[in-house]
Amino acid sequence: MNRAADREQKRGVAAGGEAGDGVETAPASGGLLVLVEPPDAEDGPGRFVLAAEGTRLARLLEGPLHLVTWPEGADLDLEALATAAAGLAERTRPAAVLLADTDTGRQLAPMIACRLGSGCVTACSDVLVRDPAAPAGRAGRPVCMTPGRERTLVFVKPVYGGGLEQEIEPLHDTIPVVALDLTGMDAPETGAAALPVAGVLQVDVTPTPRVPRVRRLEMIRPDPRSVDLVHARRIVTAGAGSAGDALLAAVGELAELLEGSVGATRPVVDDGRLPKERLIGQTGRTVAPDLYVALGLSGSPHHLAGVKRAERILAINKDGSAPIFHFSDVGYVADLEMVLPALVKKIKEWRDASGGPDDSG
Ligand SMILES: Cc1cc2nc3c(=O)[nH]c(=O)nc-3n(C[C@H](O)[C@H](O)[C@H](O)COP(=O)(O)OP(=O)(O)OC[C@H]3O[C@@H](n4cnc5c(N)ncnc54)[C@H](O)[C@@H]3O)c2cc1C
Repeated sequence: MNRAADREQKRGVAAGGEAGDGVETAPASGGLLVLVEPPDAEDGPGRFVLAAEGTRLARLLEGPLHLVTWPEGADLDLEALATAAAGLAERTRPAAVLLADTDTGRQLAPMIACRLGSGCVTACSDVLVRDPAAPAGRAGRPVCMTPGRERTLVFVKPVYGGGLEQEIEPLHDTIPVVALDLTGMDAPETGAAALPVAGVLQVDVTPTPRVPRVRRLEMIRPDPRSVDLVHARRIVTAGAGSAGDALLAAVGELAELLEGSVGATRPVVDDGRLPKERLIGQTGRTVAPDLYVALGLSGSPHHLAGVKRAERILAINKDGSAPIFHFSDVGYVADLEMVLPALVKKIKEWRDASGGPDDSG
């Protein structure tokens, strides 16, 4: 689907391809198999958008459209659904299986692809139809112009945080599975009526009792000292005011006592006191811990850019006018030389008295 493309291609949704009982006898076609979620699903309204896009693409491919859904309110068995969808795909041989890029769609896509022995593309932002005979269109992209020629699909996926787009072509003779990001795509002008309900095939996804294929042996928690700061639940950050030898050691101790990770501001990293992967801020990591302890850092915008998603911020700074206090839930105006060793000592006493680290937060 080319979002800026000719909207005329989207008309005729109601007259689009049909599935239903015709699935059994459908010829190998190069059409599309589209899995639309039931109305009560995570992206109920998106089903119309997806069905409309599927219809438009199937028309460009000049192949049939098979719409598949499952009963509303069903206790969804993803394994059963993936098996059913893969079976349908094998029988109808579509050019691709299309789903919405929802939680369910992202789970299902690789499961179906695995059963088909093909590949899958999630977070796909655009689907193009390649016509080998047509001249390149916008931005050198292939466009479909000549009727009756062999056409293939090209999947567009944003990469590098959306800075670039990657075009992915499926391998020859495979049925790719594509989870399409419907964000920002228009619903069909005709709304709900656009969905060719009569052609929708209901798949039975009633869960069947089966032996679990995954058994949990042990839960190994990540080491907070080495975990990527992006995933850290608690972070204790050393600023320029706590980067001296003794204070930095105490910052590390406090982080360990809190089962947290050590972060750093830019001057601390620039001075080689902590490695670059500990840097938080505009040029470092963006973090989202439950607790962020800011020790001897002023709270520059460059640093705070990486801390906005912290749940709670506790700051200690000897300068009561430091900007960090405007962004803190709890702030202490104090000299870390005095309070940090005492704080570490106190927490150790609590820990020893309670017989171990407290994980309650
Ligand atoms: C393009 C650009 C990108 C940048 N990106 C980042 C980035 O990603 N991350 C980042 O952190 N910075 C970044 N910076 C740098 C940023 O602008 C600040 O210079 C930096 O964040 C300041 O670090 P700081 O708060 O540790 O140091 P300072 O601003 O020097 O603050 C030190 C604080 O410690 C307090 N203090 C000193 N001694 C004690 C003590 N004994 N007890 C208690 N408090 C004490 C002081 O009162 C002071 O408030 C960037 C800068 C630029 C130009």
